[in-house]
Amino acid sequence: MPPWITILPGAEIAVIGMAFAWGAVLGSFVNVVLHRLPRGRSVATDGSRCPACGAAIRPRDNIPVIGWMLLRGRCRDCGAAISIRYPLVEAACGGIAAVVTASEIAGWGGGLPLLDAGRPGIDRLLLHGDWRPLLSTVLHTVILIAMLTWSLLAWDAASRMKRHAATRSPRETGTACAGAAWLALVVVATVTAVPGIGPVGVWMDGGFLPSTGGCAASFVAAAVGLGAGRILGGFSGGSADRCGLAVFGAATGWQAVTVVSIVTTLARWAWRRVAREGGFGEAVAGVAVAAAVLWCWRPLHGWWTTTWLIIAGR
Ligand SMILES: [Zn+2]
Repeated sequence: MPPWITILPGAEIAVIGMAFAWGAVLGSFVNVVLHRLPRGRSVATDGSRCPACGAAIRPRDNIPVIGWMLLRGRCRDCGAAISIRYPLVEAACGGIAAVVTASEIAGWGGGLPLLDAGRPGIDRLLLHGDWRPLLSTVLHTVILIAMLTWSLLAWDAASRMKRHAATRSPRETGTACAGAAWLALVVVATVTAVPGIGPVGVWMDGGFLPSTGGCAASFVAAAVGLGAGRILGGFSGGSADRCGLAVFGAATGWQAVTVVSIVTTLARWAWRRVAREGGFGEAVAGVAVAAAVLWCWRPLHGWWTTTWLIIAGR
């Protein structure tokens, strides 16, 4: 056993910290998408500018979360207030990356029912050159952040309609749906090419294409997720994020979709009782549920299968 293995807890903390930073950088891009997509502007070209005075944001002020804190929420040039939503979105995305990394790289891959639980992901990755924990972490992080983005786009569109009685721009809806379709294809292709990180089989007990290839299970789950999204009004109660459950399903299987659908519906109901409105908190609460299900999907899947077989009378 190499001597550095004794300092593994330190390595795990470092990996989770790096994941938070990576997620926060993705969150910074999410803020750009949320600001520019409804205005019909390109998300790829030109740097960030102050929405009030148009001054270019300096690189050191553009560091996720920290930049906003150092500026105390004000533009360096004109002093206009910068919404606290920017650092909150960055922190939420960093948190998603940290949670998935803690589960799948630093932990035993509780979200991956098909990879044997014998060894932590960091051990698998560094000592055995097994890249699957890293691949599944990137895939799951991107999916959860995309779901949060769709939820927030839906929330913004709803509050714009409330204020101006404006309609949602077709370009915005079209871009969000095209993004979801592309992501779903990438997910299905990835879990088909790399067995083990994808959904369990179509049948409840894992049968019908289980560990060998996730393609059929992935397509069935995507269809179930799309149906659940239409019935439940999407992941966070918005409409632009209806595809979120389909993409989540393609990576995890329809069994996970049903668990997320039930729990998010209850969470949304509870949130409305407390906060009396939807919005950022609801979107974050919904994505947090999906992250929690991924975190402990292995034992949850076992429990759900047993319950299902009892209900089915077998
Ligand atoms: Zn300014």
